[in-house]
Amino acid sequence: MTFKRLMSFAVIMSLALWSCQKKEPDSSGNAHLKGPRASEKLRILTTISPLYSFTKNIAGDAAEVENLLPSGAGPHDFSLSPMDAKKVTDARVLVINGVGLEAWLDKVIDAANMHGDDDGKLIVADTSRGVEVMNKDPHIWLSPQNAIIQVRNIRDALIKADPRNRDIYAANAEAYIISLNNLDSEISSEIKTWSKKEFVAYHSAFGYFARAYGLQQVAVIQETPETEPSPRHIASVVETIKAKGIKSIFTETQASHKIISSLATDLGLKVYSLDTLEKGSPGRQWYEDRMRVNLVVLGEALK
Ligand SMILES: [Zn+2]
Repeated sequence: MTFKRLMSFAVIMSLALWSCQKKEPDSSGNAHLKGPRASEKLRILTTISPLYSFTKNIAGDAAEVENLLPSGAGPHDFSLSPMDAKKVTDARVLVINGVGLEAWLDKVIDAANMHGDDDGKLIVADTSRGVEVMNKDPHIWLSPQNAIIQVRNIRDALIKADPRNRDIYAANAEAYIISLNNLDSEISSEIKTWSKKEFVAYHSAFGYFARAYGLQQVAVIQETPETEPSPRHIASVVETIKAKGIKSIFTETQASHKIISSLATDLGLKVYSLDTLEKGSPGRQWYEDRMRVNLVVLGEALK
């Protein structure tokens, strides 16, 4: 192509682009270009803190990420306000944990799906897709290998909603998966050195973590979230603790539990505090940091 032909080609292309752009008269009567839609960032709403942390790592600065649950609210008994419902409707991508954790969102998702054409529809990323679920236990994020599956599901939803930034999401996800794999190896090689493998937890959150690292959650105090355990159940937990020679019990950072302290006194147990990562004010590093804190606490009890 000669220089002259190249120049005329460039002129034609810029004219063609110009005529494609939408012109609107402003108040002064002059035509001006409408703000390009391309500058609008993808709006993503996540439900719980670990999902916010995952999504923020994948999105970087290319999208806006907001977490639905306020830092002090737990997902098991959350009730949706009209303002929360609006956040769902305003988002383009909704990132959920799945496994029934967000049953309080079902109606809003159904309603959001009835609006708009395919281009404007809410994309729901169920991050549990592909995770090997145990007994309908929703606490999948407490295993880093599950977290990696969740990250891949989020990445795919972001690319579907915003293909322009495909490369950014793919590269960020890849880097984050490397760092989650490092976390996984670190936990795994640490736990291998521990002499004790059995533990008792307050609510049945650590099943996936235990399965991933060869630990055994031999009993849980509270079988159903937000429900007081029956005296009969407590009696069976006491039996297990005695039979297995358990010396420590794990409670949760966010709560104080009368049952735990009376069990501890009666049976001479040490009480440790684990984080289920259901609540918190997460940032990019949050998930990995909290998992490492749990590892230290578990290690104090089981080494
Ligand atoms: Zn829970």
